[in-house]
Amino acid sequence: MSEECIFCKIVKEEADAWKIYEDETALCILDIGQVVSDTGEFIPGRCLVIPRRHVAFFYDLEDEEAGQLFIATNVIARKLKKAFNPDFVTVFIRGQRISHAHIILQPSNRDDPISKLFASMMSFFKLAPADLLDDMAQKIQEVK
Ligand SMILES: [Zn+2]
Repeated sequence: MSEECIFCKIVKEEADAWKIYEDETALCILDIGQVVSDTGEFIPGRCLVIPRRHVAFFYDLEDEEAGQLFIATNVIARKLKKAFNPDFVTVFIRGQRISHAHIILQPSNRDDPISKLFASMMSFFKLAPADLLDDMAQKIQEVK
């Protein structure tokens, strides 16, 4: 646990948050930063699923914790779909801004900024040759 970590403070109820779900492993809060459309309207429902235990990255979690975190993510994604009926509920996991693992749930619609982000990412992709994919697969499978 980190004394400075805002997510740990929220878990310990030492900091306020818009909590929308909790279980023994995870809690889910609304992100105070919500994405806006090109016309400036909020795209409702962006939220963060946080493990109660402080770890930097999701792969630092025990397998059982990770499983519980994803179950919570699935439960909340269905709630977001029913509450706001977005075309998609996108999941992001990276660990760049806050060093307490979290899953971002981002409702989005076709042609909104999130969909444009994904469309712009297509320029990063190129079909990889089979021998390169063979090498990658072998390298990953060799790790114990
Ligand atoms: Zn923390």
